[in-house]
Amino acid sequence: MKIKIQVVVESEHGERQIVQEVTQINRDCLQPENLGLSLAEAKTLLKNTQQVLVKQQIAEYEKQHSSCQQCTKKLRHKDKRTIIYRTLFGKLKLKCNRLFHCTCNPQQTRSFNPIAKLLPERTSPELLYLESKWASLMSYGLSSKILQEVLPIEGQINATSIRNNLQALGKRLESELPEEKGILIEGCQRDWDKLPRPDLPIVIGMDGGYVRFYDRKSSESGHFQVLAGKSIKADGTSKCFGMVYCYDTKPQRRVFEVLRSQGMQMNQQVTFLSDGEESIRDLQYYLNPNAEHILDWFHITMRITVMTQIAKGITKEDLETGITSEFLQEKLNRLKWSLWHGNVFKALGKIEDLIDSGSALASDDYDRQPSLEAQKLCSHLEEFETYISNNGEYIPNYGERYHNGEVISSSFVESAVNQVISKRFVKKQQMRWTPEGAHLLIQVRAQVLNQEWSSKFRQWYPGLTVNSIEERPVLHAA
Ligand SMILES: [Zn+2]
Repeated sequence: MKIKIQVVVESEHGERQIVQEVTQINRDCLQPENLGLSLAEAKTLLKNTQQVLVKQQIAEYEKQHSSCQQCTKKLRHKDKRTIIYRTLFGKLKLKCNRLFHCTCNPQQTRSFNPIAKLLPERTSPELLYLESKWASLMSYGLSSKILQEVLPIEGQINATSIRNNLQALGKRLESELPEEKGILIEGCQRDWDKLPRPDLPIVIGMDGGYVRFYDRKSSESGHFQVLAGKSIKADGTSKCFGMVYCYDTKPQRRVFEVLRSQGMQMNQQVTFLSDGEESIRDLQYYLNPNAEHILDWFHITMRITVMTQIAKGITKEDLETGITSEFLQEKLNRLKWSLWHGNVFKALGKIEDLIDSGSALASDDYDRQPSLEAQKLCSHLEEFETYISNNGEYIPNYGERYHNGEVISSSFVESAVNQVISKRFVKKQQMRWTPEGAHLLIQVRAQVLNQEWSSKFRQWYPGLTVNSIEERPVLHAA
């Protein structure tokens, strides 16, 4: 059996104009493997149909633009030029006319190319959308391989072109972000009093991670900090965001716009949770007049857990004063309860006591070897003391908050950080990043994760309809 697939082009009035064969399919006896189209046949079909369709569209457009738009006089033909245009269904070589401008309408240049003017970018919006979406979730190389496997674009895209396109889109996103201002709070108390009753507080948490850095030009390497966070509304909907701190020039504005897109009102409370790192806290100031800043309980309890583990490993004891491993563990537990109730002063005293007790075991008194574990505990305790005294004013009565159903921990941020940073940037990905490259990728990635990327594309390219590109929930690779 032989099946020929043809394209029939009809004029507006339904007259048959051109019939052209796009592919031919041969089949012998039916087997599971040859029922219907194969991927290769489908690719050929799509590629050839695309060529025929585009040829018609270009011819029609050129016909419409062959005369002067003012005086309708036919424009003089100069020559033909080839434009390369990449689409989902193959790279197109568009042979298009260059025309002289009409004498009735003097222009700066003598000639122009209507098609080149129509297509200032040389990649179709839909291909750009798919490339950037995939590449924000997996490596550039893998994205390129997968797209080539399923679309008739073998040998026509590569990791570098995908990366360059994605970076350009990231820059476009950045250019749309309004300028940074010292203070982003808008209006005054009188204005805020007039606002409608706001929603319940928005909770926003941030955390940092490190990404390996490499600059090919200077062959410098090292690490740079990436901040990521998540903002959660009372109804449970959330948005994630991220930035490379040393590169970003508008970090506060970025967080502010996330909050605003979630409907933040100036009379609404916003709870900022942080791990106590200064760069993150600075970022959270001046975004809302009703902001409260809280040290994340998760980070306190995590540190105490680590110290308790170390205390468990201590074997040396001082029976005279009763300092044993159990004694230290019990004291750490009491320290935790002081902090749970927001009693910073008491907690600092308890840390001092613990350091004294730990030091007794860490020294080489009592005719015995100093305990290395106790030394380790002491250095953790000293660090913890600094941490608590630096963050004292951000330590609330967690117990009371918890009792009132208020948020005390941003364990949700850990997952946000993993979503925004880890999978695409660390460990298994052998690639090394530049701060700019990572920052721009994070911007696209956050849009994809927030399921906003398709609506952004429809805003940029109004000709794209909901039917043509549609946001689907992101599949998270394990
Ligand atoms: Zn004219």
